[in-house]
Amino acid sequence: MLVGLLLMWQILDECLVAQMLADVQAAIFDLDGTLLDRRRSFNRFVRDQWQRFADIQAVDREQYVQTLIELDRDGYAPRNELFTGMIAQFELPSGLAETLLNDYRARFPSACVLFPDAAQTLSSLRASGLKLGLITNGSVRMQSAKLECLALSPIFDAILVSDAEGISKPNRQIFHRALERLNADPAHAVFVGDHPDIDIAGARAAGMRAIWRRDPSVSRVVEADAIIEELGDLVTLLGPKQTWL
Ligand SMILES: [Mg+2]
Repeated sequence: MLVGLLLMWQILDECLVAQMLADVQAAIFDLDGTLLDRRRSFNRFVRDQWQRFADIQAVDREQYVQTLIELDRDGYAPRNELFTGMIAQFELPSGLAETLLNDYRARFPSACVLFPDAAQTLSSLRASGLKLGLITNGSVRMQSAKLECLALSPIFDAILVSDAEGISKPNRQIFHRALERLNADPAHAVFVGDHPDIDIAGARAAGMRAIWRRDPSVSRVVEADAIIEELGDLVTLLGPKQTWL
């Protein structure tokens, strides 16, 4: 009985989501943590950095990696504090902080990797007729270098980097600006992101529907219009209508 009810509820829920997304004409994405596997990318970069700098090898490699991952806070910590914090913690020469920060700026983009299903998902959505946009918070130099290394730019009809726009997510203006560039109405557009406040709450405040790419490290309830575990789930949600109508 309970299993039957749960199944019915799940089917009803899926129908509601499908109905809600039936008229979507544009999909706008966040980059870091949504398309780009930032945790894996940062881990790759830090390990490589440890190998290349003899001065930091006084610190155990795993300790160096774990410390920087904690200080990085998934990229949200101020960049100039990232290496000064590490230097202070391990009592390394203070001049090293700037060298390591410059190295991060130069080399992190080439360590970046996409989630395995990102490129295929974007291609499928584009092939199904959706317009695609990207809104990313960060510096123009860093975000542009990442996009170039990942060969992602050509798939998007509009790319907005916060520093170039003078506004950042969750400010609703940046969502509206992206919609204008896509010539799309908020009611017919979805935003896909991993951050509950910056992406999901921001997009919903701008009048868009928001799909949360679930981040397992977030334990609180996130108010989203749909939740996906994998990017590939978007093809079912937003792809050619006959697949789910
Ligand atoms: Mg993100």
